[in-house]
Amino acid sequence: MDKKLINKGIRSDGRKLDEIRPMIIKAGVIDRADGSAYVEFGTTKVIVGVYGPKKVHPRHMENSQKAILKFRYNMIPFSVYDRKRPGYDKRSVEIAKVVADAFENAIFLEEFPKSAIEVDMEIIQADAGTRVAAITAASVALADAGIPMKGLVSSVAAGRVEGNIALDLTKDEEDVSDAIDLPVAMIPRTGEITLLQMDGDATVEEIEQIVKMAEKGCKDIEKVQIAALLEKYTTKGTN
Ligand code: ADP
Repeated sequence: MDKKLINKGIRSDGRKLDEIRPMIIKAGVIDRADGSAYVEFGTTKVIVGVYGPKKVHPRHMENSQKAILKFRYNMIPFSVYDRKRPGYDKRSVEIAKVVADAFENAIFLEEFPKSAIEVDMEIIQADAGTRVAAITAASVALADAGIPMKGLVSSVAAGRVEGNIALDLTKDEEDVSDAIDLPVAMIPRTGEITLLQMDGDATVEEIEQIVKMAEKGCKDIEKVQIAALLEKYTTKGTN
């Protein structure tokens, strides 16, 4: 029989079921971009740069009523154990689309008609949860770029591992047979859920518990996002 990853509510990395991996969030890490952020959820590492609002190219893509969002998600070749072929694939295009949807209702897009906001998300190291780490970083990078939003978007996945409901799954946990993983994004300030994905089978009761756990995780993440922004802006203001 396979070695169990969860024993008496403690996971193989020592975490409790409702704990997020050690988290690092930094705002304003790149000088060239208008806004940027770096996020680590355990060994998942993501960097995001934001450009804009800027002119739309090609022009026929512009919207006279609001800004358009151009999100890109990319896993760099050395982000995974077997070198990944560089470039975008079907998965990266799909993730960019769902991540953009998670921000569509958070950003005040009408304030910037005929403009584009470009968000480049680079996965430096992947150990599950890359899209939620990317959303968390994108939100801080957008705030760092001064893009007005209803509130920060915070994101984490929760799921089921060996029959336990658990927060922020690692790749090893995700790979257990019968595991399910639900990435959730929300605007803690308004309580709106802006992304909810799922693959695998779960009961309604399990889904309710998973979403509740992810919501609590998002609220914890928002505090760290705010602290990162405060750290950048308070230190800059003093010299
Ligand atoms: P997420 O990273 O948002 O959880 P997935 O569920 O698609 O998205 O992927 C889970 C994990 O599987 C990734 O974080 C990564 O560790 C691994 N993975 C995904 N795509 C690849 C790939 N092309 N090569 C190697 N590992 C991958």
